[in-house]
Amino acid sequence: MLNTIERMIISVDEIGQRVRELGAQISADYRAGAGRDPHRRPLLVVGLLKGAMPFMADLIRAMDIPLEYDFMAVSSYRNGTSPGEVRILKDLDCAIGRRDLLIVEDIVDTGRTLHRILKGLSAREPATLRVCTLLDKPHRREVEVPVDYVGFVLPENLFVVGYGLDYAELYRNLPFIGVLKRREA
Ligand code: 5GP
Repeated sequence: MLNTIERMIISVDEIGQRVRELGAQISADYRAGAGRDPHRRPLLVVGLLKGAMPFMADLIRAMDIPLEYDFMAVSSYRNGTSPGEVRILKDLDCAIGRRDLLIVEDIVDTGRTLHRILKGLSAREPATLRVCTLLDKPHRREVEVPVDYVGFVLPENLFVVGYGLDYAELYRNLPFIGVLKRREA
């Protein structure tokens, strides 16, 4: 598997360091917010399957505040007859009204996936709704979406794999983020 990777973009150590920073920053922000309302329920961290799973597993362990977590699964039809259409395959198990929600994404590209999810979730009136993404491709944005926490901004128009990100369902288990030998996107 490794011989099809052209180059590493973000190393294991760089990911680990940034995830620890994000965990500390997010914890501090929510601790400050929780202080204003002592009756508020714990933060609900919502991971978007499948790509966010490794990032979310590391991120929640870098956070030292009370939290619960759940997952959503969505499918995007990027090259089909309805480009940009996003369908929810798995919804949250619990009600989110008046709760603090943190969405955890692997990568924000056009913004369409996130836009669809944020629209659906905000209709359920959470107290707060924030987004943390490991990777961001701001130059590719087609829909404006609010992103509160970003791990790394990708400098070029790259298709990356690893640490949860796949190509044809493979490479998700790479511990680093890299680019494939042939441009496959
Ligand atoms: P958006 O809806 O923002 O265009 O796309 C978000 C989804 O597209 C991500 O969750 C991811 O599944 C996929 N995606 C976008 N860019 C990349 C990339 O560089 N590598 C991989 N593996 N998936 C990507």
